[in-house]
Amino acid sequence: MTDSDNELWDNLVAPWKAARPTQLQRPVGCLECRMTGYAGRIGIYEILLMSPALRKTINAETDIAALREQASREGMKPLRISGAQKVAAGLTTLEEVVKIAPPPDQS
Ligand SMILES: [Zn+2]
Repeated sequence: MTDSDNELWDNLVAPWKAARPTQLQRPVGCLECRMTGYAGRIGIYEILLMSPALRKTINAETDIAALREQASREGMKPLRISGAQKVAAGLTTLEEVVKIAPPPDQS
């Protein structure tokens, strides 16, 4: 991980904490992937499981911040963290996840 990788990683997972991976994959490119370095697709997900506590926060005037907070308390994993785990597993790159997963305050 270079300094700019570390910065990108910290930005991706903020405001959560996630240990930096020791190694990252880099797109190289070949004829097979038309020189992009990427092939195929994988999904990253953010799943909110309904609970009695969450149900109570949902109404016509739902406070989204409070909803997110309660969801986090109940173990909801944010989209960017799901993406970061795919990066750490060597399945994709930091750049790719940053490109597709919006920062938490915009999602
Ligand atoms: Zn290739």
